[in-house]
Amino acid sequence: MKNVLHIGFDDTDSLKGSCTTHLATLIIQEIFDQITFLDFPNLIRLNPNIPYKTRGNGAVALRIKGEEKDLEYCKEIVINKVKNLSEVDDENTNPGIAFVENEVPKEIVAHSKRAMWDVISIKEAEEFSSFSNVEVIKFKLGRGIIGALGAIGNPLKDDFTYEHLSYREPKNFGTKRLVDSESIYFADKETPLTFNNIDYEYNSIMILPRGADPVFTGIRGETVEAVRKAYSLISPLEELPMQMVFRTNQHTNQHFTKQFSINELKPYISAIVDADVTNKPHYIEGSHLIFSVEDSTGKIDCAAYEPTKRFRGQLSKLLIGDKITVFGGIRPAEEKHQMTINIERLKINELVKKNKFENPFCSNCQSRLKSAGKNKGYKCPKCSTKYRELQPNEIEIPRELTIGEYLPPMIAQRHLTKPKVRGNRDNSSTQKQIKEINTILAALVEN
Ligand SMILES: [Zn+2]
Repeated sequence: MKNVLHIGFDDTDSLKGSCTTHLATLIIQEIFDQITFLDFPNLIRLNPNIPYKTRGNGAVALRIKGEEKDLEYCKEIVINKVKNLSEVDDENTNPGIAFVENEVPKEIVAHSKRAMWDVISIKEAEEFSSFSNVEVIKFKLGRGIIGALGAIGNPLKDDFTYEHLSYREPKNFGTKRLVDSESIYFADKETPLTFNNIDYEYNSIMILPRGADPVFTGIRGETVEAVRKAYSLISPLEELPMQMVFRTNQHTNQHFTKQFSINELKPYISAIVDADVTNKPHYIEGSHLIFSVEDSTGKIDCAAYEPTKRFRGQLSKLLIGDKITVFGGIRPAEEKHQMTINIERLKINELVKKNKFENPFCSNCQSRLKSAGKNKGYKCPKCSTKYRELQPNEIEIPRELTIGEYLPPMIAQRHLTKPKVRGNRDNSSTQKQIKEINTILAALVEN
């Protein structure tokens, strides 16, 4: 297809405010009348375990088609908005933009796959600008080009979900979000194809962010209809001037695609590791749960940190010899600890038997025997019969864990974590037609 432009941008936000999706929505409003969208805006979450991310390491890609002069106009709008609205005063905000015309090179698709789990340098990403149809623009360090290209290179052909976002009036940024919370419980019940609205386990509303960013609600779901319906059922108590729906790799486990042996692990990657438990899980200062695992290549500590709440209690039941698959981010060694896997998900593949030994019964009067002293066998406390050669009974105690997957509660899950409720669902075959996408986007832009 000719006259296609893929626009990516990332690292425009800071912990204090702003948000890359907000910037994307402002850009969409500005360019919508000039061009045709080939997809919903894409919100692509990349490796959540790299140290430089702001909040969720999310980048945005817009894929559009139009006349050459209109695409040039769009580029200008994107550059101006990123330049003027990014939180560039924040030392950790280093925006980057990428433009790719027509076909996305397969090397950028490969970069995107790697950006899901690995640490990639700005220099590596910058090398893609040598392609004739690729342009990258850096602001300050320009770290954002890594995610900008990562977003462009992920066409969301595999499983995906939607997120509906609504945005506040700038004058309300940083104030408490006012909403009729009953309406959120109602919207949750009325829309079975949305998920992660409310963590019922910890009675926590999940769709309202807590920070100073412009997002008012973020509603996640399987279909664009479901997330829009849920939003329509919520009663905010303040003006919300903008909304948008993003197609996203959130809640697909896409960062866990690569299996590692323990000696291959390095800081900040997202890794899958098959291993055996080698010591009893124990709590350390701060209520973090720690245990170690090994495979044929080495040994490493695993941690379930305090915010994962009851997840720690579950994992504390692991025993030496249990065979598990750990999904987690690698924390580098520091003064107080060795390199550690921060567990995001855990699969139990095989549980060792847990036994206990009990004194046998008297064959004469059926009373429980007592030890007659070390190596002296047993003696009946009731009829005094002695049993010199008798061995203790070995009893199997049921394990408090079962084979299968364990996840932290919703409040402690990553954006990319596939929640239990999604089961085996895979939306890859439910892509929408371009015409319908543009009709829906027009309604969202009009708000
Ligand atoms: Zn007896």
